[in-house]
Amino acid sequence: MADGAPNGQSSDGRRALPSVDRLLQAQATRALLATYPRDLVVDALRTSLAEARASADATIDGDALVARAESALAARTQTSLRPVINATGVILHTNLGRAPLSPATLAAMVACAAGYSSLEYDLEAGGRGSRHEHVGALLRQLTGAEAALVVNNNASSVLLALAALAAGCEVVISRGQLVEIGGGFRIPDVLRQSGAGLVEVGTTNRTYVEDYAAALTPQSALLLRVHASNFQVVGFVHSASLDELVVLAHRSNLLVVDDLGSGTLLPTERYGLAHEPMVQESIAAGADLVCFSGDKLLGGPQAGILVGRDPIIAQLRRHPLTRALRPDKATLAGLHATLLHYLRGEAEQEIPVWRMVAATREDLETRAQRLVSELASGLVNVAHTEATIGGGSLPGETLPSAALAIGSSSVSALAAKLRRWRTPIIGRIADDRLLLELRTVPPELDDEIATALRAAITTSAP
Ligand SMILES: *Cc1c(COP(=O)(O)O)cnc(C)c1O
Repeated sequence: MADGAPNGQSSDGRRALPSVDRLLQAQATRALLATYPRDLVVDALRTSLAEARASADATIDGDALVARAESALAARTQTSLRPVINATGVILHTNLGRAPLSPATLAAMVACAAGYSSLEYDLEAGGRGSRHEHVGALLRQLTGAEAALVVNNNASSVLLALAALAAGCEVVISRGQLVEIGGGFRIPDVLRQSGAGLVEVGTTNRTYVEDYAAALTPQSALLLRVHASNFQVVGFVHSASLDELVVLAHRSNLLVVDDLGSGTLLPTERYGLAHEPMVQESIAAGADLVCFSGDKLLGGPQAGILVGRDPIIAQLRRHPLTRALRPDKATLAGLHATLLHYLRGEAEQEIPVWRMVAATREDLETRAQRLVSELASGLVNVAHTEATIGGGSLPGETLPSAALAIGSSSVSALAAKLRRWRTPIIGRIADDRLLLELRTVPPELDDEIATALRAAITTSAP
């Protein structure tokens, strides 16, 4: 130790341990004091000393004590929420934060969050404005709806819609659509929370519009359609079309609320995928209110978006839950920038989610080949794989993809090593190989993957 703190190498390690005061004078501690408040450092040194005393390990010297205090302080202050590299091939990975954002979206969010903004200020009138106006025009233009409202996430959209439009009344829904979205979000539970009564009609696999018609009572408020986002029922199945529900509802003076989950503004079939319901289609079919997520296929910040008829949206705005579920300024700024990409016809180039959907297997294979030749390790090869959309969209649908496949005697150890990389890299294990899928990795991170792999493979060599 530079300042000459005792090294504790005596026959009795315990007695030779330096005091806290002595450790505080040490050169290595000065760097800690520059980074952390003094009492945190003192605390960490005390703990470090107490542990050394308890272990009676005579080799622990002053430097080791300070180093231990340093790792304890680092662990205590490091956030567990960190950027990661998603090499799973699941584009909207819920555990990895769903949609990455476009540069323009990020810039808009930073600009509004870094300082003050006209969040609730009308710059023309010079007085109070509404946060609910900022994205209204774009959403009307893009979806064809009369009005729009943005809340925190789509779970909030559904809760708000049911609470504002059906509390104390009945909501009619097909048994095939009483779904669990994930994370404990179950449609029957949300209905209960909203104060609306649930009327189930049809069967798990088949529900006809006549089933809805037969269930209507004077207490009925709305017909709810929920998109089966994350599962498929195949075989002997039938569900009433949105057109049929709209005709029935409007004949009976009721509303149709369509929860699309992801929803999309671009046609997914353009990319060789099945058709995911589009927001414009639901509005055109006459749904009174359509709910969808901001951070699924829309590719924007976390938000719940409600579009529909003007008086319905006005009713939602007046409901007290809207205040509790309102989005913040960064969300609204980011959503606006994301929606602009659609308006300008540049969504496929600018929005990361769509760029990943649109990438061809050939592109991905070229990238994978380059990395394989660069790494020149017999362990790393190119694999043909299938990527998925995830995030409760297009279940069972895949995109032909390419991955780095790493064969190693201890694949799970290798995967763990990559998860501990400076930017953790998350892959998946299949057939005793670690797969790093390139579809969900931005090309500019390819070199980072190569560096990490080089380090991880070298250190795992037997
Ligand atoms: C994902 C989803 C939700 C919840 O949306 P969040 O944005 O995750 O809150 C609600 N309904 C359906 C059908 C969904 O797929």
